[in-house]
Amino acid sequence: MDPSETTAVAVRDVGPDAVAIEITTPDGFEARPGQFVKLETTIDGEPVGRFYTISSPNTRETFELTIGYDSEEGGAFSEYLLSVEPGDPVTITGPFGDNYYEDEPRVVVLAGGPGVGPAVAIAERALADGGEAAVVYQDDTPIHEDRLASIANSGADVFVLADGTALTDAVGDVHSGIDGEAVFVYGFADFLADAEAAIAEAGGDPDGAKSENFG
Ligand SMILES: Cc1cc2nc3c(=O)[nH]c(=O)nc-3n(C[C@H](O)[C@H](O)[C@H](O)COP(=O)(O)OP(=O)(O)OC[C@H]3O[C@@H](n4cnc5c(N)ncnc54)[C@H](O)[C@@H]3O)c2cc1C
Repeated sequence: MDPSETTAVAVRDVGPDAVAIEITTPDGFEARPGQFVKLETTIDGEPVGRFYTISSPNTRETFELTIGYDSEEGGAFSEYLLSVEPGDPVTITGPFGDNYYEDEPRVVVLAGGPGVGPAVAIAERALADGGEAAVVYQDDTPIHEDRLASIANSGADVFVLADGTALTDAVGDVHSGIDGEAVFVYGFADFLADAEAAIAEAGGDPDGAKSENFG
């Protein structure tokens, strides 16, 4: 898969230590919510790439990526992304990933940190398709709060939890186990482990969840 050069069309502040970059969809590119792309640049003369998950409900004309960064010890690639402005070129390869929304009638998305990007994308798409959605999002400094509120206003269950609180209870509330329910998990490895334990506690099968580990 060859890289494509595209353009940043908008950069939005979506909450503490996070930014959403909207980029032009390259010709022939199509992806489902939950898939991810590789962004690449050159840092200190070396090519560097990192993966980011699509945070818009579709990829028609443009699509969005949500980047969480650590303002105290953020890495070099996050620093590069924070410098991106509308009109700048952006190099992407993809889409990648097998764990994405496939028109299931009910989606339950568990997200830690920047995993909220695919969570809002999948919930918005499922609701637009006439399906049901639930989001359980764990983060001490939540982002995308306006989109989460709008998802809740559309009838979805939305739980926003501070780190270390009640993940098991919230997953137990939204996990129904009915036919057609798909469970998704997105975030860094420590969140994935907690989410998988919560799914098992709720009577679900963690191995059946569509999970993406951010590292
Ligand atoms: C499949 C996949 C999808 C991804 N999708 C996204 C996405 O949609 N949005 C996004 O922001 N990132 C996503 N990532 C992570 C992203 O690729 C980078 O690793 C991240 O942005 C850090 O890159 P860096 O070069 O700035 O920092 P590095 O120097 O590579 O790593 C250090 C930084 O990584 C972050 N970090 C690393 N481990 C953890 C952890 N356990 N908990 C919290 N933060 C941690 C911290 O900000 C830390 O400062 C994804 C990774 C993968 C593999």
